[in-house]
Amino acid sequence: MEFSSKLLERAVNEMSQLPGIGKRTALRLVLHLLRQPKEQTVMLSEALKRMRQDVKFCKSCHNISDVDLCEICASSNRNESVVCVVEDVRDVMAIENTSSFKGLYHVLGGKISPMDGIGPHDLNIESLVKKIKQGEIKELIFALSSTMEGDTTNFYIYKQIQDCKVYTTTIARGIAVGDELEYADEVTLGRSIVNRIPFENSLKS
Ligand SMILES: [Zn+2]
Repeated sequence: MEFSSKLLERAVNEMSQLPGIGKRTALRLVLHLLRQPKEQTVMLSEALKRMRQDVKFCKSCHNISDVDLCEICASSNRNESVVCVVEDVRDVMAIENTSSFKGLYHVLGGKISPMDGIGPHDLNIESLVKKIKQGEIKELIFALSSTMEGDTTNFYIYKQIQDCKVYTTTIARGIAVGDELEYADEVTLGRSIVNRIPFENSLKS
């Protein structure tokens, strides 16, 4: 792609670093910004900059938050003895949208995937095991997507806490095998949380 301006070229190159955005799409977006009032671009870049600089991860559940302890962990209306393990922040949002869950979350930040070089130590597993060993959590719900990586991750955590006094469950499989949680519709996802089954049962099947 030949550019008439170095500034334009740089903006397109940066934009095309985003997933799913090729050079052509990046150019279209950049040209769109050029047609908009200047303030629009300033607001966009300011929002991104502020988010990147100031966003925090909850010190308890690792959810994205503006403060040290996220709104969910800080709420007095949540049941602290039930913790739902999810892959990432999008899953917290998906489950919150169902309004079917009143416990707390633990965000792993991904799943074990040797193919992608992601091992247990790259994820927030240690802090989860530590939390469970403190003994205040009565039930741990595995709500990872039912892919091979999801199952591996569940099993790894399950092994770590096997000797702890915690009841482990997994969400019911209204969610098709291989489906990502965030794409499940709210009713299905809500139901699968409510109708969760003992984790051991999922191992036998
Ligand atoms: Zn939190």
